[in-house]
Amino acid sequence: CGVFGVYAPSEEVAKLTYFGLYALQHRGQESAGIATFSNRQVNHHKDMGLVSQVFNESILNRLVGESAVGHVRYSTTGSSRAANAQPAIVETRLGSLALAHNGNIVNVMELREKLSQDDYTFVTTTDSEMIALAIATEVDRGKDWLDGAISAFNYCQGAYSLVIGAPDGIMGVRDPHGIRPLVIGTLGQNPCRYVLASETCALDIIGAEYLRDVEPGELVWITEEGLASFHWAQKPQPKLCIFEMIYFSRPDSVVEEETIYTYRKRLGHYLAKESFTDADLVIGVPDSGIPAAIGFSEVSGIPFAEGLIKNRYVGRTFIQPTQAMRESGIRMKLNPLKDVLSGKRIILVDDSIVRGTTSKKLVKAIRDAGATEVHMRISSPPVTHPCFYGIDTDNQDQLIAATKSVDDICQQISVDSLAYLSWEAMHHATGDHQSNFCSACFTGNYPIAIPEPLKRSKLM
Ligand code: 5GP
Ligand code: SF4
Ligand code: MG
Repeated sequence: CGVFGVYAPSEEVAKLTYFGLYALQHRGQESAGIATFSNRQVNHHKDMGLVSQVFNESILNRLVGESAVGHVRYSTTGSSRAANAQPAIVETRLGSLALAHNGNIVNVMELREKLSQDDYTFVTTTDSEMIALAIATEVDRGKDWLDGAISAFNYCQGAYSLVIGAPDGIMGVRDPHGIRPLVIGTLGQNPCRYVLASETCALDIIGAEYLRDVEPGELVWITEEGLASFHWAQKPQPKLCIFEMIYFSRPDSVVEEETIYTYRKRLGHYLAKESFTDADLVIGVPDSGIPAAIGFSEVSGIPFAEGLIKNRYVGRTFIQPTQAMRESGIRMKLNPLKDVLSGKRIILVDDSIVRGTTSKKLVKAIRDAGATEVHMRISSPPVTHPCFYGIDTDNQDQLIAATKSVDDICQQISVDSLAYLSWEAMHHATGDHQSNFCSACFTGNYPIAIPEPLKRSKLM
């Protein structure tokens, strides 16, 4: 999911949020929502669909306020329906609260039990609503926003980057491991105008300046008095999701003063060093495989070419293709360039193989276009374990590398050779000398303990 927040009295906060969410659309296409606070009252609009489908000028004009929070949803827990769209809005003793969540809470059962003792009825089925209700419970017991929120976070286990709107200001929070990203930006010269966003690309689009990341286990509280920081967690231990770097984030977003694009190119450099093979062209799977393909080409000396063209306008559509279309494969999204590929030995670079279904169809399309050999190179290690922290990589039995060797996968997707980046090379390319990243989907070493029933539901 993508989250965004802005505190900027006298600015058009809903419009700023709209453009911020627009830049974060890659983080979730299922639903979008914005809540604004105006004179302590909340206004909101949310629905299924892309940001550009959910909002129009007149809706945005209605969403007046001094602050706003927004969300784009990528379904992880809770079914795919409008009631699960965020921000989640709950009422408290001190007024409304609007919460936008990126991540996944792992102790939902425990939380649900705890909250149902307090007679809450659940409107939706998401873990995000549960966090909002946990804060509301603490506030209703007499705590202020800050103490209420911190008390609630102390019993929320899992991954959560949150942007929370309240009548007095907005909050930005990261869990003690900082699994999901969250950055702070400033808007204009006025020091009280702050922006919170999942990625820096959402700051760029509205002309905000990157200030710094919200730290793991930190809460920032932005009000008319400025930005106050609270380190609420005991022994925070950074574990940013490495899959954010490899696949999920936008290439123009910046992490540790470097664009994700440059980082992914470096993965390609390491990949070429580890698994060079002779060929005529290097091509990448658009979009996320392109930077690594360019990197592979730079080190191998084999020319990079565009061999697959992506239709950038394939949104989430509820209209299913015809049976004949379905049988012809994935051509709706990616189309091969026949005259580029014909008669050539191809190195096909992608960022990851999850189920292997996309890769298999792509390889067939490239062969049908006349390629004589297809060598697949993957700029991350085999995905062998499911994610419990907010990226929906299926149950373990659906992950092709969980049950099959590299040779078996090579046969299954019908390539002439297949190689993955080693875990060590990924570690090096990431500069992760202090183990500050989660890489559990490649290792099974989960940094946050997963309760047994949840574990059993996804692991083989
Ligand atoms: P596969 O061959 O496993 O079917 O698909 C691999 C492709 O899916 C890669 O191009 C990769 O960029 C993309 N991918 C990787 N992780 C995810 C994920 O968590 N969700 C989705 N929808 N796609 C992913
Ligand atoms: Fe990211 Fe994988 Fe860790 Fe999930 S398990 S947070 S996808 S690195
Ligand atoms: Mg991809």
